[in-house]
Amino acid sequence: MGGTVSTLLSFEDLIAPLTSTSIHDRRFIKRAYEFGESAHAGQKRKSGEDYFVHCVEVARIMVDLHMDSATIAAALLHDVVEDTSVTLEELEQDFSEDVAHLVAGVTKLDQFPLHEHTSKSQREAEYLRKTLLAMNQDVRVILIKLADRLHNMRTLGYMSPESQQRNAQETMDIFAPLASRLGIWQMKWELEDLAFRYLNPEKYRMIASLIDERRAERDKYVAKLVERLESMLKAEGIGAEVSGRSKHIYSIWRKMDRKDVGFDSIFDVRAVRVMVDSVTTCYQALGLIHNTWRPITGEFDDYIAAPKDNFYQSLHTAVILEDGKTLEVQIRTYEMHAHAEYGVAAHWKYKESGLQSDQNFERRLQHLRELMDVGRNVDDATEYLDALRTDVFQDRVYAFTPRGDIIDLPAGATPIDFAYHIHTDIGHRCRGAKVNGKLVSLDYVLQVGDRVEVLTARRGGPSRDWLNPNHNFVKTKRAVAKIRHWFRRQDRDKMIVLGREMLDRELKRLGVDQRVSHDQVASLFDVNKTDDLLAQIGFGDIHPQHIATKILELEQREAERKAEEENRIPLSMTPSPPRKTSKNGSKGVAVQGAGDFLTVLARCCNPAPGDPIVGYITRGRGVSVHREDCSNILNCKEPERLIEVTWGDTDTERYVVPVCIKAYDRKGLMRDIGTVVAEEQINMLDVNVRTVSNVATFNLTMEIETAAQLSRLLSKMERLPNVIEAKRVGA
Ligand code: MN
Repeated sequence: MGGTVSTLLSFEDLIAPLTSTSIHDRRFIKRAYEFGESAHAGQKRKSGEDYFVHCVEVARIMVDLHMDSATIAAALLHDVVEDTSVTLEELEQDFSEDVAHLVAGVTKLDQFPLHEHTSKSQREAEYLRKTLLAMNQDVRVILIKLADRLHNMRTLGYMSPESQQRNAQETMDIFAPLASRLGIWQMKWELEDLAFRYLNPEKYRMIASLIDERRAERDKYVAKLVERLESMLKAEGIGAEVSGRSKHIYSIWRKMDRKDVGFDSIFDVRAVRVMVDSVTTCYQALGLIHNTWRPITGEFDDYIAAPKDNFYQSLHTAVILEDGKTLEVQIRTYEMHAHAEYGVAAHWKYKESGLQSDQNFERRLQHLRELMDVGRNVDDATEYLDALRTDVFQDRVYAFTPRGDIIDLPAGATPIDFAYHIHTDIGHRCRGAKVNGKLVSLDYVLQVGDRVEVLTARRGGPSRDWLNPNHNFVKTKRAVAKIRHWFRRQDRDKMIVLGREMLDRELKRLGVDQRVSHDQVASLFDVNKTDDLLAQIGFGDIHPQHIATKILELEQREAERKAEEENRIPLSMTPSPPRKTSKNGSKGVAVQGAGDFLTVLARCCNPAPGDPIVGYITRGRGVSVHREDCSNILNCKEPERLIEVTWGDTDTERYVVPVCIKAYDRKGLMRDIGTVVAEEQINMLDVNVRTVSNVATFNLTMEIETAAQLSRLLSKMERLPNVIEAKRVGA
């Protein structure tokens, strides 16, 4: 990929666009031209052209923006201090303090204090910070820098592929957004297109050739449209200048990429600009256009009434033409147009032509300064580069450590955020801060370029006030998270105590406090340490109801295991641990044709539910149940004692559980308890109420299907008015 090699513009050609410059200014610029030419004499650029060509091209961009003579002179001299033996003092003596100061600004901007290990984002942050500081002093420095970058991008073809990529990326990340912020659209678009050409050469070439292919056809169409619009407006007595608007390659690509539409649908859009001389006329023209063609809903924007952040003003609309094509129209005054094209530089253009526009300029700069140093209320935890890419100036603040390292924080950040950013421990121990050598309060809002020294205590932790959103002590989520974490750790001890109380209460309520240890509960929750369990309960991560469910499940398993060990099928109606009974009242093992026998599981073969089984009528111990393949059965000498048995229907198993409820007696209490039981569809087998000095004790016996159901029932009971406690009666 080549680049544009320019031949050296003569002084006269350089300043040709400056029609109203004084003789004094011309002489001044001419001296700078001659001074620069001799200072750079013999130096060549990579393209082979004389180095001074670059300086003149940069100056030419300043001329096109109608900048003042000091800026043009400084542009001509912008590289002399860095690349030749000329000093700033000489520039000040030979030209002016103004010129020396501008060149110094540009030179400083170019010097990156880069260490080998500095990351790309740190470099960008550093550059941005410098840019902001320089701009705060004199925005003309930035304009020269942008022009310098623009010309370097125009001639980027001569650089190595690596530096092409790096420069293109920097341009996309920093310089194009900067131009946009300053409102200089021309520059922004050219920078974007040039950068895009290197960052995505395939797409660039594709779009460029598509544009070229249809240029003639499109130009003809637009020319007709322009003519038509002009005469239409004229018929209404509106004097206007209408022009076709060329689309920029990068903006076409972004539209294709963002809206995921093909080139055709974007390219079919025709775009014109209408310029008139007053705001009132803008709206008249708009009315006329909207009356002639159907406006597209949602495409109208009034940036005159509500200018964009960078003071861009215009009316935007889109209408459907007779042939179905879309026409985009921008309507603005000549002055708005100049501001849109020149951005902050419009200030000098107007100064040159003697027009008053200083107020606008000051407002614009003031706005930029505010963006820089006012803590905006944006809660930003996204990565720095994302923030940089989306909006250069917004939302970030750059401060220094005493050693000169840059700390990048969201706007509104405080010394506490700064401290946590450096190190968690420094954050915890932060007790005060000095900014630029002066003590500040901890809710001080950091400004760009602040040098921050954190004052720490030897030990101790953060203050709870820091988390109070009513005080703006902390801005970053990162710091908030660290402070919370610290308190969580501190609170853990208290939470363990609370958790222990809660667990004890729950175990008591379930009537298992004598049998179930904390360690056992911990193992139920897969928690390694009992303290972890207690802390989790204390913090509310484990709810008491979960504990109840788990414990009852455990008990159920234990009871089954025990029953099997004892060779005994659990029998009905025995108080807890829960005993199984089947719904119809028969035992877990149904003995066919023999009525209710006492059944015992044989120890020799340990039959388990599901095994094919057979019963053996013992002498006085009921029926013992064996597996069919048990050797004792196979070798049985008294086959007449064998009896057919089957496993009970396990699906309908219920547990008979005695529950005790204590309450201050009141009217309707029994009915309320009954309602809860009914709601849970639980069978109440037995009720017994005793009242002693106004305290009623209900002893209920219930058939419970699941442990969860019991837990739910107990909580519901406890929530009834006047109920003191509801618990399962311990075994
Ligand atoms: Mn340069």
